[in-house]
Amino acid sequence: MARDKKSKPKTKISDASLATTLGRDAKAFIGAVNPPVYHASTILFDTYETLKNLPDSVPYTYGRFATPTSQALTDSIAHLEGGAGSFLTPSGLSACVLALISAVRAGDHILVTDSVYGPTRQFCDSYLAQIGVAVDYYDPAIGAAIDEQITDKTAAVFVESPGSVTMDMQDIPAISAAAHAKGAVVLMDNTWATPLFFKPLQHGVDISIQAATKYIVGHSDAMLGVVTANAEMYDKVKQHHRLFGLCAAPDDIYLALRGLRTLPVRLQQHMANALHLAQWLREQPIVREVLYPALPEAAGHALWQRDFLGASGLFSILLEPCSDKAIAAMIDNMRFFKIGYSWGGYESLIVPFDSPRVLRFCEQSGHAGARLLRLHIGLEDAQELQQDLKEGFERLTSTG
Ligand SMILES: *Cc1c(COP(=O)(O)O)cnc(C)c1O
Repeated sequence: MARDKKSKPKTKISDASLATTLGRDAKAFIGAVNPPVYHASTILFDTYETLKNLPDSVPYTYGRFATPTSQALTDSIAHLEGGAGSFLTPSGLSACVLALISAVRAGDHILVTDSVYGPTRQFCDSYLAQIGVAVDYYDPAIGAAIDEQITDKTAAVFVESPGSVTMDMQDIPAISAAAHAKGAVVLMDNTWATPLFFKPLQHGVDISIQAATKYIVGHSDAMLGVVTANAEMYDKVKQHHRLFGLCAAPDDIYLALRGLRTLPVRLQQHMANALHLAQWLREQPIVREVLYPALPEAAGHALWQRDFLGASGLFSILLEPCSDKAIAAMIDNMRFFKIGYSWGGYESLIVPFDSPRVLRFCEQSGHAGARLLRLHIGLEDAQELQQDLKEGFERLTSTG
């Protein structure tokens, strides 16, 4: 077949190359590889005439709306997510809030996965309930049967896969199809996979949420959220982003841009280390179950394999019943796994969880009395991390 040189099809660029090239414009900034950090609130206009006749195409009119620094990040994430546009917020939680308030109004009904990030649930139960939005929680394993719970008042379905702490996988394409069939939109917290390991908008999601605090920033030194909308939801998200006065600090945006450059290599290493440790952990007598969808025996493995492009470094383990004292003997004295919330930085973390939902999950999955530890597997040497856990289990079992 003859091919016109001018219309040569563009080869698709890989995410690894995109992460290093998106959002850069050396010519605009003295040839510097990285865009500068604009500290700007006021943007000056030459004359009253210019101010009066500002065309919509003028990119920068006020610091809260955009600067070249924020634009570099929003353009990059929107491209990786395949969205119409992205919006920055001061934290991951405020990104969840922005997505929710953009999608529901007083009198609406919303369906939220029972495995949702705890503070997102609190926002739904307190604020959304208070403004007259009815909130129902559904079993994350529901799949296409969510159809039965969608009423003519249901405006949105909120998904998170894998879900926080218990790591339940969800059938995003099936849920999206059921929601769209009845006119509801789908919002997804995609923090665990990042836009590199799962593409929500390609699987039917309308609004994708990232706690960039986690893997995108990647160094435990800034808080940031990103909301990416498809073409249908773009105007609504933009409107609410403005109404709520949301924006992010320039230095934090810069840290996210810097993090983005190494996100592909960091994620590969988090995945390699996490797989190594998950495989070792499932052989340990004290470990009842490893909740990591990348393991072949994991409940959500088939969905993960069908839809995801990789697995990040966060998972949970269920331990045989043991005392608080035994847990403390283990986690108080770790060499590398430190005790702390959040995750997605370069370092390993360990936290016990015993919320009512986690206790219910353990009961329902036949693990009543089990103790849940959430691990974030960092970029340290995998053998040394394994040794750290091995010694921790020895302290735990000898404490009783
Ligand atoms: C941490 C987290 C958030 C909130 O991010 P912050 O930046 O801490 O506000 C939202 N969703 C998920 C799944 C998270 O793990």
